[in-house]
Amino acid sequence: MGPPGAGKGSQASRITTKYEMPSISTGQMFRDAYNAGESIGINAMEFIKDGNLVSDDITNEIVRLRLHKEDTTTSFLLDGFPRTVAQAIALDGMLVDMDSNLDAVINILSSHDVLFERMEQRRVCKKCGATYHLRFKTPSVDGVCDVCSGELYQREDDSHESVKRRLEIYETKTKPLLEYYSDRGILYHVNGMQDFDKVTEDIFLVLDDIK
Ligand SMILES: [Zn+2]
Repeated sequence: MGPPGAGKGSQASRITTKYEMPSISTGQMFRDAYNAGESIGINAMEFIKDGNLVSDDITNEIVRLRLHKEDTTTSFLLDGFPRTVAQAIALDGMLVDMDSNLDAVINILSSHDVLFERMEQRRVCKKCGATYHLRFKTPSVDGVCDVCSGELYQREDDSHESVKRRLEIYETKTKPLLEYYSDRGILYHVNGMQDFDKVTEDIFLVLDDIK
């Protein structure tokens, strides 16, 4: 968890590589569905491009379908879900159904200034979803993905107005979730304003400890 731009996606890919688990990113699933011309993706993108949250029903459904795949039996990482208390309650139901549970909720702390700066400089690979930053994590060739040679672009929801809106929505709808998980004793805070590698290190410390 963490506000938009806190580095959730990048940290998620490091976690899933180290602990060998699938990453379930609702944002990425919606973008994939959109690129494939699927109606769920086209519907979702209407919300996402303006910086709004996709409705709970659509979001819960795409996660439920994903959790039913075989690769989630041992472990999995959720990235960008749940984003509302209603989604967290729905997730609890899904986990009961699959006889599973959450071990940890990692919250990446960051300030709004840092977030604006990061998101406006963010570029994403059209093909594999890898993320870059024009100052801190530049691709070797301008506009080209290091991983798969795909084309890099700026996500529509990374524009200034959209970022502002996403931060407001985060404060009102997503922040209450912190209390929801803190009450259960599974919430861990990590300082997201440090060097990218240090943030990863801190997350690994938390996860190694609860394994
Ligand atoms: Zn790529």
